[in-house]
Amino acid sequence: MNTFLSEKNRAVRRSVRAFCEREIMPIAGEIDREARFPWEVIEMMGKLGYFGIQVPKKLGGSGMDSLSCVITIEEISRACGSLGLCVTVHNSVAVYPIMAFGSETQKKRWIPPLARGEKIGAFCLTEPNAGSDAAGVEATAIRNKKGYLVNANKVFVTNGGVADICLIFARTDPDAGRRGISVVVAERGTPGFVVGDLEDLCGMRANPVTSIRLYDCKIPAENLLGEEGTGFQIGIMALDTGRIGIAAQAVGIAQAALEESARYANQRQQFGVSIGKHQSIQAMLADMATELEAARLMVYRAALLRDQGKHFSRASAMAKLYASEAASRITDMAVQIHGGYGYSKSYPVERYYRDARVTRIYEGTSEIHQMVIAREVLKDYAK
Ligand SMILES: Cc1cc2nc3c(=O)[nH]c(=O)nc-3n(C[C@H](O)[C@H](O)[C@H](O)COP(=O)(O)OP(=O)(O)OC[C@H]3O[C@@H](n4cnc5c(N)ncnc54)[C@H](O)[C@@H]3O)c2cc1C
Repeated sequence: MNTFLSEKNRAVRRSVRAFCEREIMPIAGEIDREARFPWEVIEMMGKLGYFGIQVPKKLGGSGMDSLSCVITIEEISRACGSLGLCVTVHNSVAVYPIMAFGSETQKKRWIPPLARGEKIGAFCLTEPNAGSDAAGVEATAIRNKKGYLVNANKVFVTNGGVADICLIFARTDPDAGRRGISVVVAERGTPGFVVGDLEDLCGMRANPVTSIRLYDCKIPAENLLGEEGTGFQIGIMALDTGRIGIAAQAVGIAQAALEESARYANQRQQFGVSIGKHQSIQAMLADMATELEAARLMVYRAALLRDQGKHFSRASAMAKLYASEAASRITDMAVQIHGGYGYSKSYPVERYYRDARVTRIYEGTSEIHQMVIAREVLKDYAK
């Protein structure tokens, strides 16, 4: 697996892994149980550049490539899915769209504190009536002399409870379908900006996922990202990148599940031998390891294509679909290998199982990914 990674990529893995094993792994179970966002660790991660992985150094970031970015997300997720989620969403669907579509003034204003982790970013697309059908956004941003009057009810916002800078997808033209959607940047503290209660989630419990509501919120005109009417394209491009991150998150969680399972299979004795000597346990471990490597290769390929400036959206959709489904299967087998103990909170595999499950849902469900990929395959062979 390491064959096509550069020395720099390998060094990134070594340093992120060492940090995660020292600072995150020991508290991962506790912050999951307490549904606590660990500010003390977030501060350290900010200083290490994990919140501006691909941001140029002159804007306060680490200036790394996509491959190093996915390795970072993978390693953080190996220790804690919730923090992997925080970092991937912040970097790929909050910071990246500002870098790609923001004016120089917007970048100078928002990027440095985001890249240093002093401010946390969020991506606010989903609404009660606009989930998979993202073009169904009902939030409105009505232009007036000074800027926009924004009303929005955004649900399931990752980092919502702590986010300072939120990309809000809203209609600037109610009659223009997906061409009527724009992105405005709303800052926490603006009058009318309301953070909802924490979602009581099955997994990813240390991430403060909340709703965010804007009530007659006055957003200055200079907070429009890109041009009016380009919000849907901005969303699609952000999600193309974001999906590589979610796939990397799934790989990291699955890696942790495999490691725990192999350790347990060596140590747990039944019928006078370690359970790893039983063929059915070996079959599960073999399938887990093989699926994990396949998923990782797909994720790295998508990241490499992005680094090479090539078209990567199909590769990113395939990586997200495969890695998230594989992570669900792998963590399920991890629970099975642990028997009854796997179903108890004494071992971390039940957390991996819960955390992996949602990677099949957010940033596009598996069914939506199947639809998108199938559409392209059919197009390939249309003639
Ligand atoms: C923990 C968590 C964090 C999240 N973070 C964010 C975030 O930061 N920002 C954000 O904007 N959103 C976020 N989301 C929302 C997430 O992206 C949506 O939940 C997801 O896109 C699905 O939308 P939905 O929940 O409305 O499901 P629905 O769209 O109602 O789908 C329900 C079911 O129907 C299926 N379905 C729908 N349409 C079709 C179709 N055409 N063909 C076949 N099957 C279909 C789906 O695949 C699914 O199985 C988050 C969600 C969770 C759970």
